Amino acid sequence: MPRPATNLLRIMTKYGSQETVTEIQRETLYRLVQSDVQGEVFLPGDLWSSDFGGVVQRTPRVVVRPQNEQDIFHCFSVAKDVGITVSFRGAGHSCHGQTLSDGGILIENVDDSADFKLLDDGQVEVSSKTRWHNLEKGLNEQRRSIPVTTDYLHLSVGGTLSVGGYGIHSVTRGAQVDHVTKLRLLLPDGTSRWCSVNEHRDLFRFSLAGLGQLGFIDKVVTETVPHRRFTRLYKYSYRKIVEFLDSLTWMQGWSGAWPSHFCALVGYGQTLSEFGFEHSNQKEAEGHLNADISNDLLNPSFKGVFQDYRFTLHRSLTGYINSDKDVYRVWADYAFEYSNFRRFLLFVAALRFKGVFGSFLDRIYILAFRRPETPTAVSLLVFGTRPAPRQFWLADVQKPQRRFPLKFAAHVRLPSSLASGSTTRFPAATSER
Ligand SMILES: Cc1cc2nc3c(=O)[nH]c(=O)nc-3n(C[C@H](O)[C@H](O)[C@H](O)COP(=O)(O)OP(=O)(O)OC[C@H]3O[C@@H](n4cnc5c(N)ncnc54)[C@H](O)[C@@H]3O)c2cc1C
Repeated sequence: MPRPATNLLRIMTKYGSQETVTEIQRETLYRLVQSDVQGEVFLPGDLWSSDFGGVVQRTPRVVVRPQNEQDIFHCFSVAKDVGITVSFRGAGHSCHGQTLSDGGILIENVDDSADFKLLDDGQVEVSSKTRWHNLEKGLNEQRRSIPVTTDYLHLSVGGTLSVGGYGIHSVTRGAQVDHVTKLRLLLPDGTSRWCSVNEHRDLFRFSLAGLGQLGFIDKVVTETVPHRRFTRLYKYSYRKIVEFLDSLTWMQGWSGAWPSHFCALVGYGQTLSEFGFEHSNQKEAEGHLNADISNDLLNPSFKGVFQDYRFTLHRSLTGYINSDKDVYRVWADYAFEYSNFRRFLLFVAALRFKGVFGSFLDRIYILAFRRPETPTAVSLLVFGTRPAPRQFWLADVQKPQRRFPLKFAAHVRLPSSLASGSTTRFPAATSER
């Protein structure tokens, strides 16, 4: 429950404003927050003024790493009395300032413990601060696995479920939010609720992929699947993007359970796709290595069996992610059904050789989605299609940009203007409720 406000806070509200934060006010707020928080409280440093994208800068007044729900309720209460906002941050890997706070209280909710409990029905109850890496690792020890893991695994459970959450397994299992059956939400009025499709349905529906706008996701119950440790992997290389696109047409009518993973990459002068099949034992995986996937696919440039491929993928991405720190990272996702995906990819790929956009376009990472028959209430709006189809494609356009000159920020926004302006026909993917 909320704790009572103090007179000191009221004085601060009277003299404080979002724009003119003096050090004294920060210190005062710091003391007020700290007075009743068992976790850690910090005066902000650069660490919390930016995110992975590095494009947006905002500075909170106070940062809290909560230890329990009372800490969070205390932050809500203080913020309400002072008239400032509370924002949430998981691993801070958003690119456009979604986790930043402009003069408010920032709650940072991620740590390296694996705080979860496998339930009798095979579902798992997990704290939102857990990283997917640690959850998957812990589950594997109990022969279970998360249906859709993010490709990069150091993201937080609360963070990706507030965004949607997708990865190479989305090709058969949709988004991470499609597998959540219950969540515990801490609300700004100091109450908490377990929410599901049957209980507080609207809170459930709007907090998943809701960017933390309703409240704090504290715990989540999500499905698990049997752990299939061995991945039979096929990689394909294409000389032309059109060849790559043609090689995917069979997937439009395809409804099988396998391949269980797909991703593709256009960039660095190459176009590659990858299909995977998860197996519980090595012999079975190797036994199927020469099986055909589709007549539309030519000979793979590589095939083989990997153990714990999810972690291999994570490690390979970690290198890429940490490679160049002195850049703005402008990553934008666009979702389409196949025919528009095809047009979009050809359009953007052609821009690789043109002007400012071309010089900074790094790569286009592609995932395919097939959502379950009964997904969560969150329906993803796919460009040009209503209602959204169960199957669609996601193009993640990634652009690094040297930190100087700053004026380039206008050009860096090109994909968004491409998305919504008069210059092109392709709006960005958004969530539809
Ligand atoms: C290197 C990298 C790899 C990525 N890989 C993937 C991927 O494989 N799959 C994928 O789906 N996305 C991916 N993303 C995209 C996206 O940025 C992340 O899904 C998202 O940022 C989640 O991770 P996070 O813990 O960093 O969340 P943050 O970026 O910290 O937060 C994301 C949003 O959730 C809110 N939030 C955080 N915690 C809570 C909470 N407990 N309660 C309520 N709201 C909360 C925040 O306010 C914010 O709006 C990636 C991004 C980067 C930079």
